[in-house]
Amino acid sequence: MTRKNKITKEFKNYQMNSDVYKLRKEVMNLIYEVKEVYDIPRIDVRIGESKNCNTLGIARLNNNIIWIAEYTINKGIDFLRNVVYHELLHTIYGVDHDEKCPLMQSRLENILTKQECLDIFGKYANQ
Ligand SMILES: [Zn+2]
Repeated sequence: MTRKNKITKEFKNYQMNSDVYKLRKEVMNLIYEVKEVYDIPRIDVRIGESKNCNTLGIARLNNNIIWIAEYTINKGIDFLRNVVYHELLHTIYGVDHDEKCPLMQSRLENILTKQECLDIFGKYANQ
C-alpha cells in the first residue's frame, strides 16, 4: 500500500482530547523507552477501540503506524509494553508472527519483562 492511510476498518479511532492524550502518552512513553536503546523512526500512534474485541493492537507492515486499543492500555504497563513492542516490530521492520518467539507469537501468552522485550526487539532491530 503506497498511501499512508490513517484509518483501518478493524478499528475505531478516538478523537483526540485530554483523556485520549493521556492514553496515547502511555504508549509514547514505551516508544521512547525503545528509542533510548535502538534507532527507530517516528511512529504514528492511534488510540481507540477494536471492532473485534480480541485485537489488542494493529500495525501496518513497514508503515510506521500503530493502533492500540484502550483495553490494552488499561491492562497495565507490562501488558501494554508487550503489545507495543510487538506492533513496533511489525510496523518498522515488517516482522511477521513467529509462534516460537515469545514476543512475536500471534497470541500474547506470557508477559515478558522490560529487559526481555528490549533484548528480543534488538534481535530484530540489528538484523
Ligand atoms: Zn501481530
